[in-house]
Amino acid sequence: MTERQKQIGRNESDARTANELVSVDGEQAKLAGHETLAVLCECGDNDCHEPLTMSVDEYEVIRSEPAQFAVIAGHEILDCERVITTHPGYLIVEKFGDAGTVADAADPRHNLKTCRVVVVDDIPEIRYLLRIVLAVDPSSTVVGEASNGAEAIEVVDAMQPEVIVLDLEMPVMDGWHALPHLRRVAPTAHIIVFSSTEVDARLEKRLANLGADRFVRKGGDPSIIVNAVREVATSGRDRQFAGDGDGGGRHVDAADDDNPGRRSGESVS
Ligand SMILES: [Zn+2]
Repeated sequence: MTERQKQIGRNESDARTANELVSVDGEQAKLAGHETLAVLCECGDNDCHEPLTMSVDEYEVIRSEPAQFAVIAGHEILDCERVITTHPGYLIVEKFGDAGTVADAADPRHNLKTCRVVVVDDIPEIRYLLRIVLAVDPSSTVVGEASNGAEAIEVVDAMQPEVIVLDLEMPVMDGWHALPHLRRVAPTAHIIVFSSTEVDARLEKRLANLGADRFVRKGGDPSIIVNAVREVATSGRDRQFAGDGDGGGRHVDAADDDNPGRRSGESVS
């Protein structure tokens, strides 16, 4: 194996990436009543740009398998891929071994946004800013917005995002009051408090006890909040808190807190 196989996997993924752009058009073509799609041969030869024609539906079936590619008959590379189906004009091949692994990892659809974020802030410009900066990050996307805590509970309950970015000072219901409810409706979501409020160690602890995972001060470089979203989304909640060094033992007095959804051992980092 395998440098060659890996290269072939990469080449086919490049063709796939090009075809992904076409297939967006393909959806529009289908809406317009056209059923067929011209795509590039997805073979491992980087210099092959031969077109092949298939239906939009056929392409979507191939696309749903990251290691399957459409190639012109004769362009298959049998030490990296096996022929799955023969169609008039093209073959469907499936990569195996290292080529399959590389193709899978490079699948452009893996880059679809995986971290869904709900943004809660009473200032529309802040929500807009967050939507833009998070859209630029390849892993995250804003799927919902709310302008106060009460709205946030409904939106989060409906959307079940991976991450909630929560302002503290808001009308109707502020972030402090919303936190335990958000923790209850979305027990596995990561909650990042994003506020211009001065938060000292005591308030940080209180936020943690209410269910916040992290505090980010407003007003810094936008990359700080983007990185925080990415970090919490990739860390996993339990692992994040296991590494706190305090034994995960931050508990709150029950009398202090009427939040049934909060789990112990959480802290603001
Ligand atoms: Zn080819």
